[in-house]
Amino acid sequence: MTDQELADLTWNALTAAFPDSSCSLDTDRPERLAIRGILSAQCTDVRVNITSGILFDKYPEPAMLSSATESQIAEIIRPCGLYKAKAKSVKAFCTKLTCEWNGKIPNDVQMLMEVPGVGRKIANLIVGEIYRTPAIVVDTHCKRVMYRIGLTDRKEPEAVEKDLMKVFGRDKWITLGHMAVDLGRKYCTAGHPGCDICPLSSFCRRHIDG
Ligand code: SF4
Repeated sequence: MTDQELADLTWNALTAAFPDSSCSLDTDRPERLAIRGILSAQCTDVRVNITSGILFDKYPEPAMLSSATESQIAEIIRPCGLYKAKAKSVKAFCTKLTCEWNGKIPNDVQMLMEVPGVGRKIANLIVGEIYRTPAIVVDTHCKRVMYRIGLTDRKEPEAVEKDLMKVFGRDKWITLGHMAVDLGRKYCTAGHPGCDICPLSSFCRRHIDG
């Protein structure tokens, strides 16, 4: 089977299994989604949604977060883990947003990555969800499931992203990332993948090759 045929089978199986796949972070306001993206590193989306709600109750506007100290932000976002680094990143993002970007989040991955702590994964999430700019979010689930399926033999997120971009059309990139998360949560879990009930088992290379 060619890589393209494998990608097509994967797409068809994922869209059938997860027809309503979407971002599981709350997406009520663009800047809040971006901040939730920053908080999401090594944390569950459920936890991020809860904790960010408390943060935005206290600091409803980006200008208020840019004026807050890192330790004030860190105190609230502690449950998300990595809270010192994330507080620095949230403050830096809000400062850029209010002072450099005139309140408008750039639709530009490279510009977003100038914010300390914002890497390609978060930048892709931001442009994809806010502007629907085609971008594949390669998180820990996406990386794992695509490797197992056989759509990449590399493990660095940027390399995985490039491999996926070759076999999936641009119109599929945003949804592909969401569906990979769904697959990783429901069937292709890190510890014990549920291959026996997985809708990709008839063609998944790991399952077939053992
Ligand atoms: S068949 Fe198994 S290894 Fe392959 S995607 Fe499904 S759960 Fe993961």
